[in-house]
Amino acid sequence: MSILIKNCNLISMDVSREKIEYNVDILIENNRIKKIDKNIDKQCVDKVIDATDKYVLPGFINTHSHIGMSIFRETVDGFILQDWLEKKIWPIEDNLTEEDIYNSSLLSCAEMIKTGTTTVNDHYFFPESVINAVHTAGMRAEITRVLMDIGGDLEPRIIELENLIKNYLNKYDTISINVGIHGFYTASNICVEKARELAKKYNLNVHIHFCENSDEVKQIKDRYDVDVPSKVLQKYFYDINTILAHCVKLSDNDFNILKNLPIHVSHCPISNLKLGCGIANLPKLIENNINVSLGTDGQGSGCNLDMFDTMKFVGLLQKGINEDPTLISAYDVLQMATINGARALNKDSLIGSIVEGKLADLIILDLSNITLQPINDVFSDIVYNAKGTNVITTIVNGKILMENRKLLTIDENSIIKNCKYILKNLK
Ligand SMILES: [Zn+2]
Repeated sequence: MSILIKNCNLISMDVSREKIEYNVDILIENNRIKKIDKNIDKQCVDKVIDATDKYVLPGFINTHSHIGMSIFRETVDGFILQDWLEKKIWPIEDNLTEEDIYNSSLLSCAEMIKTGTTTVNDHYFFPESVINAVHTAGMRAEITRVLMDIGGDLEPRIIELENLIKNYLNKYDTISINVGIHGFYTASNICVEKARELAKKYNLNVHIHFCENSDEVKQIKDRYDVDVPSKVLQKYFYDINTILAHCVKLSDNDFNILKNLPIHVSHCPISNLKLGCGIANLPKLIENNINVSLGTDGQGSGCNLDMFDTMKFVGLLQKGINEDPTLISAYDVLQMATINGARALNKDSLIGSIVEGKLADLIILDLSNITLQPINDVFSDIVYNAKGTNVITTIVNGKILMENRKLLTIDENSIIKNCKYILKNLK
């Protein structure tokens, strides 16, 4: 299968190219970007997409979400994090079926494809249901079976994760597996040691919630008898590529340790605001050369999976709380949503920017609506004024998943219907 995108304005997010190139063609062959040039011949191409006056970007990479949680959208108002989890979410999750998780995950995939996300780093359980949904949708994802040793025995969870790794590590070229840990505050040192063993044995990323709020920091210090939470990371994951969701409550000592570890931050500003956790110190993370990528978290706390919403908050929050409008450019934010996410997942040689030879994960934007006119600075317009609805076409692994706003792999109406009563029936 070959696809030729004709006459687009390309924002490749690649350092070797101009930040924006006008009237460019992109040839996709099978799952790769074969050629980027002017006036590529459209003879012998299976499909031509006319992208005149449209903008092409790499698909967004959401480095922290729980896609099986779409059914918990907007259930958090009035709760603190730990109460919301313990009183509201976990008792219901115990009663969810594999089919519920499949439907809930597929709804999330529809939402992501329609808002320009092509890769998601998921963090949940019932991983086979999540994988089936992601595979049906055609998205790229990193999946896990989250480990924790409260609310059940650890051993079956470890076995489930190892079986998942064995069965799915090389099954689909769009799906990879990592080692998920809920958090150090919900995992014993035995759990963390087992997680480390699996990550080393199969050479996998680790994905964990870290320093999301003050209460969590206190619990980690008590449980592990450390003066700063980063010492736990330093002990167990000093040589493992690790994605840390949140990192809101970091002390100076944490920064000093983290800057020397192979960690990446998944910054989830909307969830952090909704749960009253605080605002991560992005300037300090960047100053310490720590890679910052973006996440939405699940819809329960993160509202939705639209990365445009997240991008807008990133820039506005940092300028506002630091009283410095020069902080974090729109282009910096776009990097966080694309190539930095690829770097976090250790996949930056494959995705995250549009260059010849990389995998064809890209989106086409129509920026013609009134709230973006006139376009003086397209990067700022995308970050501050565009929305998920500006994405008209989404391509993952060389396959068109949405064209002219129509989903091609998911029946949108039936998945909305299937998810409508899951939560109501469990209450
Ligand atoms: Zn989370």
